[in-house]
Amino acid sequence: MRLSTVTLTSLIALLPAALLAQSVPPSPPTAAPAAPPASDRPTYGTFGFDAAGMDRSVKPGDDFYAYANGTWAKNTAIPADESNYGAFNVLQDLSRERTRGILDAAKSDGNSKIGRAYAAFLDTAAIEKAGLAPIQPWLARIRKVDMAGYPALLAEADRNGVDIPFGFYVGQDDKNPDVYAVNLMQGGLGMPDRDYYLSTDAKLIQTKAAYQAHLAKLLTLAGEKDGEARAAAVVAFETGLARAHWTRIDSRDADKTYNKMTLAQLRQSAPGFDFAAFLNAEKASAPSLIVAQPTAIAGTAKLIAATPIGVLRDQLMLRSLDGFAAVLPQAIDAESFAFNGTVLSGTPQQQERWKRAVGFTSSALTDEVSKVYVARYFPPETKAAADTMVKNVLAALGQRIQKLDWMAPATKQKALAKLAAFEPRIGYPDRWRDYAALDVRSGDAFGNMLRANQWRHDFEVTKLGKPIYRWEWGMAPMTVNAQANFGLVAITFPAAILQPPFFDPKADPAVNYGGIGAVIGHEISHHFDDQGAKYDARGRLTQWWTDGDVQKFKALSERLARQYDAYEPLPGMHVKGELTLGENSADLAGLAAAHDAWLATLGGKPAPVIDGFSGDQRFYLGWAQVWRRNYREANLRQRLLTDPHAPSEQRSDIVRNMDPWYTAYKPQPGEKLYLAPDARVRIW
Ligand SMILES: [Zn+2]
Repeated sequence: MRLSTVTLTSLIALLPAALLAQSVPPSPPTAAPAAPPASDRPTYGTFGFDAAGMDRSVKPGDDFYAYANGTWAKNTAIPADESNYGAFNVLQDLSRERTRGILDAAKSDGNSKIGRAYAAFLDTAAIEKAGLAPIQPWLARIRKVDMAGYPALLAEADRNGVDIPFGFYVGQDDKNPDVYAVNLMQGGLGMPDRDYYLSTDAKLIQTKAAYQAHLAKLLTLAGEKDGEARAAAVVAFETGLARAHWTRIDSRDADKTYNKMTLAQLRQSAPGFDFAAFLNAEKASAPSLIVAQPTAIAGTAKLIAATPIGVLRDQLMLRSLDGFAAVLPQAIDAESFAFNGTVLSGTPQQQERWKRAVGFTSSALTDEVSKVYVARYFPPETKAAADTMVKNVLAALGQRIQKLDWMAPATKQKALAKLAAFEPRIGYPDRWRDYAALDVRSGDAFGNMLRANQWRHDFEVTKLGKPIYRWEWGMAPMTVNAQANFGLVAITFPAAILQPPFFDPKADPAVNYGGIGAVIGHEISHHFDDQGAKYDARGRLTQWWTDGDVQKFKALSERLARQYDAYEPLPGMHVKGELTLGENSADLAGLAAAHDAWLATLGGKPAPVIDGFSGDQRFYLGWAQVWRRNYREANLRQRLLTDPHAPSEQRSDIVRNMDPWYTAYKPQPGEKLYLAPDARVRIW
């Protein structure tokens, strides 16, 4: 997790936490992967939009999402092995089918690391036969650790990919983006957020009880005694961590989370834990480090000092069993899924093994898979078309900045300089990581996962003291997502998102601009959202605005946060306006800039009417279409508590702030989405 990196959507997956950072998300089975269209017709509908999925009985002004997607939503079941399903999943399915083809061929060939990693993960008979033997040496280390050895063992656990009570990573120093820094942040929860431990909501209290039962079963399955009492003690420990943790709203504040300290200062502010031994074992010696949540780190250190070593051992053992469940015997894997998949996300069925094997291999050896994937599935014409759209949307946002009435002229010049500094990254990186040091063995699924985690850790830590790896991507080309990176002033669009319904060379340009154009606008606009705007043209966290600019910008952002606070997707559960502010700001500015960019391509001529829809109407339909997504209730609840992105329907509703949407659909006062002109939020 990088605080300075934001994505288009959250892929709440069921992979071990250690593999989430670069994982290809799991996705559902489909009848057949979308075949490339044989004719000049677009993949969706007659002009790139699935008009059959609309519900024309709904007024667009009451519920634009349902108007555009209502019939699709009613007729689309979420596959049994998914927590949600929509436009993103359709493309993830396609990516995964393609990757499967690549890996099946590599497996038969037998000579490559990707083939061996994939085959070993698929070999559940070998995994079953090995039982707990592969993880026992590690569990034995945990069982005998004492208080003095605990900090160094935590560092080793971190290297092994086990989730520990302190988050540790090497990343760009926000205030000096030319160098890497050691970062320390809160961590260690086995459930997705502090709210799961502390809330008085009845559903969350039930979830916490189910979590404790899950931990008890895992301990029993690992051959431990007194599972129930020990699980209760671990939950009590993690509840203590949760109490010390900052909220997600505070944790996304770039200023509050930048606290540079020397080791001596850290030890003084967070007594009770030997940070020197920990960082030494992490091989992360640096004169200073950046602490994200100082009071949470202090609270965690204090809690560790006051907790019996037996509880600390059990917690680490449980995080290890959950983290490696996919490569442990079926009983443990099934128990891990029963909680992490079914209870937390509402997903009834575990994915078929091959899907998880594709996910594991694509995560462990990302670039080895990516190379083959992009050579086969990323047409150069797509890159050229996306390049042009990026240029057009950048130009449109530049014009919007010039016209702003709230920003000082000098600040506008700096904002335009920042826009000019952008580095668009399209399709795939121009350099690949070298996996020579990663040992991948046949028939050793556990060892492969362990060594892949260690390899990744070492790759990250050895960045310290080196120039920034500007070529490196945080996302695989097979991933259906996009990313903005504040420190690099970069925007990233992997190959897999540059496909219908986001982008279709055979679709009407209005739909493409409402889809991928708005996605491009979204990522560009992140650099000007409530956090991204704090970084200058060099990617430095510094105030480059006047105080007056900051005040006016905050007031506008505040109005958008209140608009989203009002949405209530589940009874009693609202969208968190402050948590989702960055994403909603990016949607607001990105969609507006994409609309301007599309208009500019018309060169002053009116857009044609197609199937009875005006160009403006088609533009907003293109936007709503990419956000079609059905959720299971547990997944939606988890997202409302943890996801910096609002649910898809409310993202689609950002249109209510845009004047051309009113011209296109003529919503009337009194309709649910209608906002009087002065109530519409416009920031950029
Ligand atoms: Zn985003």
